[in-house]
Amino acid sequence: MRHAVCAVALAFICSPARAGDDQVARIAGQALTQGGAMTFLERLADDVGGRVTGSPELHRAQDLVTASLKDAGLANVHAEDWTLLSRWRRGHARAHTVSAAPIALTVGGFGWIPSTPGPVEGPLVDLGMPDGKTLSVPAEKLKGAVVLADFKKMGDEPGFLIRARVSRQLAQAGAVALMVPSTKPDRMLDIGCFGNFPKAALPMLSVAADDGGMLRRLLARGGVRLALDVQNDLDSTPAQERNLIAEIPGREHPEEVILLGAHLDSWDPGQGAQDDGSGVAALVDAARILNALGERPARTIRFAFFAGEEQAILGSQAYVKAHAAELDRIKAVVVMDEGADEIKGFKAQGRKEVADSARRLFAPIAGLGGDDFSEEASFDQDHAFFMAAGVPALTLWTAEERYDVLHHAVTDTLDHVDAKHMARCTAVVATAAWLLANADAGALPKRLPADEAKALLARTGLAGAYEMASGGK
Ligand SMILES: [Zn+2]
Repeated sequence: MRHAVCAVALAFICSPARAGDDQVARIAGQALTQGGAMTFLERLADDVGGRVTGSPELHRAQDLVTASLKDAGLANVHAEDWTLLSRWRRGHARAHTVSAAPIALTVGGFGWIPSTPGPVEGPLVDLGMPDGKTLSVPAEKLKGAVVLADFKKMGDEPGFLIRARVSRQLAQAGAVALMVPSTKPDRMLDIGCFGNFPKAALPMLSVAADDGGMLRRLLARGGVRLALDVQNDLDSTPAQERNLIAEIPGREHPEEVILLGAHLDSWDPGQGAQDDGSGVAALVDAARILNALGERPARTIRFAFFAGEEQAILGSQAYVKAHAAELDRIKAVVVMDEGADEIKGFKAQGRKEVADSARRLFAPIAGLGGDDFSEEASFDQDHAFFMAAGVPALTLWTAEERYDVLHHAVTDTLDHVDAKHMARCTAVVATAAWLLANADAGALPKRLPADEAKALLARTGLAGAYEMASGGK
């Protein structure tokens, strides 16, 4: 009896782990112990820094990624060009109150804004929080004015869509500039560009939250005049920009693809270390680790380093257009663009069946933290146009509190990337790619037909964002 019990116990203890777990353990182990992603990210952040789309800095970063992928022995490393309608380079943005004792304001220009015609002055008008339908101030009061306004999501409509619409209304009314109080603490500014590309309707500045509050207190006590000088280079000559692509060819179904995506462009005040240097670093290290396994995945794993994300997810949009005929064979897209932070899991972008299949497939890596699956959908990362085309899309879901403060701000630097989180995110992204690339065909979610993909956008409230990013307003 004792013998039998022991044999049963031994069989249980010694039974081999789930098939394939050896490779999963190797992939995760290398990501967690070798620090490859952090080593790459240090070079990207410190040798290149901020990388605005169309800039020489982004092109230096593209050279660095290309060299790293070639060094790691990836197959089919190449660039895919697309047309960038305009390029923009930050000059300066200055603002102060006009009074006996002028007060300088902490301001920064949003991306792709025009310049003021030299130094300008105007009365300050507070619009509060406009809904973008009607302006609460008569148009004649806006002519020549500097307008202060806050924006937030209203109903299904993201704040950036409302901001873009209001900026066009203000430009039409002859306003001088729009100032948006930052929602970040400690005088940090929040500059972005969604809704502005290829050229914003008028100069648009982020103003430190504290200064926004002060301007409103001053207004409550009487009229306020502001002096502004905003100068940037906005070049509307179309130029070539590019996505970088590399592959690990599949051994059984090389024509079927699991695509991992991150964006190499960033904003310029910081180093773009989290947004999206961390996603790029995770992909570069995942490519290195997966390619060195000695065993090829069943399907092809493709790595895409997009440009133009910050303008209007331009690079991934161009990719989806150029690869329209191939989308049936892109079995899943995984994007990392929320920073390397504590992992919650994955967002399945509005699709329950995608969440369900990811939950089953990713069971071996639940211990790394990626065990929660949200159906939340958004249109502000590079998965968006794949999702709109019905391709199953997952985005890595990490704790957003720190990232929301850092990204697009002067504080998006390497100092704010935690090496432990960087390694863990890399482990999850790399193993997720491996598991998807080796999954049985029946275990993968399907591509949605066009009508269902359209219904998905409507159901998730993303139809307006889709239209704006596609070029319609
Ligand atoms: Zn990003």
